[in-house]
Amino acid sequence: MKNIIVCIKQTPKSDNIKIDPATGCLIRTGAESAINPFDEFALEEGIRIKERLTAQGKTAVVNVITMGPPQAEAVLRTSVAKGADKVFHLSDIAFAGSDTWATSYALSKGIQKIGNPYIIICGKQTNDSDTGHIGAQISAWLKYPNSSFVRKVSELGDANITVERLVEDGTDTINLSTPAVLSVVKEINKPRIASISGRISAKTFEITTWTADDIKADKTKLGMKNSPTKVVKSFTPKREANSIVIEGATSKERANNLVKILKENQYV
Ligand SMILES: Cc1cc2nc3c(=O)[nH]c(=O)nc-3n(C[C@H](O)[C@H](O)[C@H](O)COP(=O)(O)OP(=O)(O)OC[C@H]3O[C@@H](n4cnc5c(N)ncnc54)[C@H](O)[C@@H]3O)c2cc1C
Repeated sequence: MKNIIVCIKQTPKSDNIKIDPATGCLIRTGAESAINPFDEFALEEGIRIKERLTAQGKTAVVNVITMGPPQAEAVLRTSVAKGADKVFHLSDIAFAGSDTWATSYALSKGIQKIGNPYIIICGKQTNDSDTGHIGAQISAWLKYPNSSFVRKVSELGDANITVERLVEDGTDTINLSTPAVLSVVKEINKPRIASISGRISAKTFEITTWTADDIKADKTKLGMKNSPTKVVKSFTPKREANSIVIEGATSKERANNLVKILKENQYV
């Protein structure tokens, strides 16, 4: 049996991210949340890999894991509606305020508890903290090979997989031994819409909730106090419309006027 494990995070909807100027923290109260947009592609790829393995006569299971507050359960239900077989919620006050090092540690312990992974799939990044650390950090904790920016999973062997990853001037083709950790980009697939029957069964689906003790996590590696990263300042950038119109009857005249303005302001 091949365990596909997809990591998803509940984040504010993209147009809804605000930072409290006093505390520097995200304002979550009243903000609508959803699956992090990149994790939609990770989930879809997990389901497609299961479908490909099933077509080869193999048994595969799509497991989805999230670490987050109680309300993060909603994204697990959405995952079930789309086709996840099992869902796991890491929820404990001990996890609160964890930075990426601590978050990836907790997720790696959760993955170990699920057991026997074949492929672990993350999104490229989140739309709130946006570090892109977690996939690579999970692979470091678990000592599994990792590929980021994956845009295609081309071959699925028993002990190896082949992936294509986006690089600045094209793609790399990489062979990884399994279990492997992948972070995927939006070019990899087109996420499906949940079926009506999926939505109905998701409502009452049993979610497995684990605390730090359940996953045998070392609590000195969890939470804000034990996180090595300290956020010094976060703020919403000011939107300023600071523009001038360059006058002139012809393009040459406008170009000359532009150069004049640049010189006057000592830009050239
Ligand atoms: C000092 C400090 C304090 C913080 N305090 C808080 C806080 O109080 N509350 C808070 O919400 N955040 C807090 N954060 C942010 C928190 O560290 C990040 O939300 C978390 O570590 C994930 O990082 P990221 O969002 O940059 O993920 P990325 O690395 O950008 O995510 C890449 C991929 O990893 C997976 N992934 C990421 N996060 C999760 C998750 N939680 N569960 C499952 N899969 C995941 C997804 O597949 C995602 O696409 C804090 C950060 C720091 C540095």
